[in-house]
Amino acid sequence: MTRTTASIDRRSAVGILGAIGATAIAGGAGTAGAQDVARAGGSAAVLTPELLGWDEKTGQYVLPSLPYPNDALEPHIDAETMDIHRTKHHQAYVTGLNKALAELARARESGDFALVKHWSRELAFHGGGHVNHCLFWRMMAPPAQGGGGEPSGDLAAAIARDFGSFEKFSAHFQAAAGAVEGSGWAWLVHDRASGRLLIQQMEKQQNMLLTGCTPLLGIDVWEHAYYIKYRNRRAEYVKAFMNVANWGFAAELYGSHMS
Ligand code: MN
Repeated sequence: MTRTTASIDRRSAVGILGAIGATAIAGGAGTAGAQDVARAGGSAAVLTPELLGWDEKTGQYVLPSLPYPNDALEPHIDAETMDIHRTKHHQAYVTGLNKALAELARARESGDFALVKHWSRELAFHGGGHVNHCLFWRMMAPPAQGGGGEPSGDLAAAIARDFGSFEKFSAHFQAAAGAVEGSGWAWLVHDRASGRLLIQQMEKQQNMLLTGCTPLLGIDVWEHAYYIKYRNRRAEYVKAFMNVANWGFAAELYGSHMS
């Protein structure tokens, strides 16, 4: 840990994540009207610094713990995948994010910005990877603890309004996830501007963003997310994911973004 990295405060950390994560989460870019401030506050209440893997004490991003055991999502997501995915792949994004921020701080101190493009790309990639995975672990839940099924309440009504029905949403979401070229994600998001729900694909950890949207539900379709159990059968993995989709958490995010 460097002194410069440690000096990043919590507000900066959440702001950085808002700018580079899946979408503009936790009060990212936007005009600072009273409504926006209220919305940002609401989002921040769900997307806490702890949930987003920020350690106030060390001033570093850290690997968050799972809210359930590695085998809790069996048979849909296997324990070995959960373990390797978080402790190896997610950890690499955490390390890369802290490294990129330290290198950019060093560049500012020295005035040598020769590698600013490289470290900015690293920041976007690893920062996106870190945020995406922090969200992903929470966007799944064991079936006995609310995973799977269908949403209820306001979120269910919004899905019916914007996609026609839950079945049509599910078909669209699974198709989008299945059709991501190479490594990436599919997200159900709330678009702040239109007030509508959208389904977005994401390439790698950060490309194809629509700024101003808040993620509600996302699926990682990098091969490391499913290859141990499902091999090349991504569609089977995507279908299985629907059995652990955490609609309660999605509803919390939706509610905080709408308030
Ligand atoms: Mn992943």
